[in-house]
Amino acid sequence: MTKRSLLAAVAALALPAPAAAQNAPVQPAGRRAAPPAAQPVDPAVARLRDAALNDTVAYDILEGITTEVGQRLAATEAEARARTWAVAKLRSLGFRNVHIETYRMPVWLRGQETAEVVSPFPQRLSLVALGNSGATPEAGVTAPVAVFRTFGELQAAPAGSLTGKIAYIGNAMEPAQDGSSYGAFGAARFVGPALAASKGAVAVVIRSVGTDAHRNPHTGGTNWPTGVQPIPAAALSVSDALLLERMAARGRPITLHLTLTPHFAGEGESGNVVAEVPGSDPAAGIVLIGGHLDSWDLGQGAIDDGAGIAITTAAAKHLLDGPRPRRTIRVVWFGAEEPGGFGGREYARVHGAERHATAQESDFGADRVWRFEVNLPAGASVVTDRLQSALAPLGITRGRDPAGDGTDVGPTIALGVGSVDLNQDGTRYFDTHHTPDDTLERIDPAQLRQNVAAWTTMLAIVANAPEEIGPVPHRN
Ligand code: ZN
Ligand code: ZN
Repeated sequence: MTKRSLLAAVAALALPAPAAAQNAPVQPAGRRAAPPAAQPVDPAVARLRDAALNDTVAYDILEGITTEVGQRLAATEAEARARTWAVAKLRSLGFRNVHIETYRMPVWLRGQETAEVVSPFPQRLSLVALGNSGATPEAGVTAPVAVFRTFGELQAAPAGSLTGKIAYIGNAMEPAQDGSSYGAFGAARFVGPALAASKGAVAVVIRSVGTDAHRNPHTGGTNWPTGVQPIPAAALSVSDALLLERMAARGRPITLHLTLTPHFAGEGESGNVVAEVPGSDPAAGIVLIGGHLDSWDLGQGAIDDGAGIAITTAAAKHLLDGPRPRRTIRVVWFGAEEPGGFGGREYARVHGAERHATAQESDFGADRVWRFEVNLPAGASVVTDRLQSALAPLGITRGRDPAGDGTDVGPTIALGVGSVDLNQDGTRYFDTHHTPDDTLERIDPAQLRQNVAAWTTMLAIVANAPEEIGPVPHRN
């Protein structure tokens, strides 16, 4: 076995590379162009990276927050307890300038949620309300179902054609390593209910935006444009959605009885938790990293997004324990991402005028990083080459699309800040995303440690780069 194929096999298994191969740059298989001149890996960076493969901090954070706090629905008492927990944890780890930045936002709370097919084949269905859903009367609503197997079919429905009906919106989501199917099929959840409401629907049920076929429905936020009155909107488990489609295929009208009683409980407090690894050169700009502290209320918020705060914090801790980096590393545990990115917008409002070198987040579970993408100014291209060499032994290849993903760092990036995205394998992420099964058991500790090593490597290179990392043109 050649060193390269060995490394590829190691990467596929998500195990640490053997020591003899650790500093060897690896080109993705199948690329025909001559590889760029490899940047040697700074031994200090390699040491940090390899030590991070034995990290215990990330799992400790995840185990702690899922056990001692659990679900952390935005702007609720649970999210407030999570902020208190976060401050204590970050201070105990030795971070500096640890504090909470609060803001106000609408509070949405889940109520009862039941549904049954009244005819032609009476059966109970498994479903959950979507975040920001409107409510039925206490006694529920009984109405005929208009079945749309895709969001496109709903778009084609004539105006007014759904008056008095419950709209069902299906999808055909398949797993994808890069998570691209979420954008393609997520429309049914993000905007489907509002579209159905505008065509007269009294309520909406969607097939969960998920890649499993279990009976756990997937919640998630839906959006109501200004002027659209929220209607009841819920996600059926994939199994129950397929059941409903089989009933529809028999050609007989379906009547559903649906009870959803969530409510908006006025304004509440949410907040971002901020912590820093102080840098030696304040003029060089902040390296902003983090994930979101809030979660949906069904599971424990382990993969979404306890993992993201754990990974980024653990990586920053590896820098905190070494020589002072050039740039300040700011770790933010963002609040209220799930109901609409409140924490990320608030961060940009408060801190947007400060100089940031880069901003990046981890919010795609805890499976291994397989690719990185950058958006850096032209003068910092050598930083990208350094990243490529140092990340390769972790099985991470360089992507060619510009970085800049993320609900939480998006508003900061939009101000002209660069980014280094560490793309995680999303193949199984949507099996349990936003379900009661988002629990600690979904975390693979070996892949979690690979994430910490990737983030530690990125921080060691970007926070210490002697080059200026100034503003970039926004990628859109
Ligand atoms: Zn998330
Ligand atoms: Zn989420």
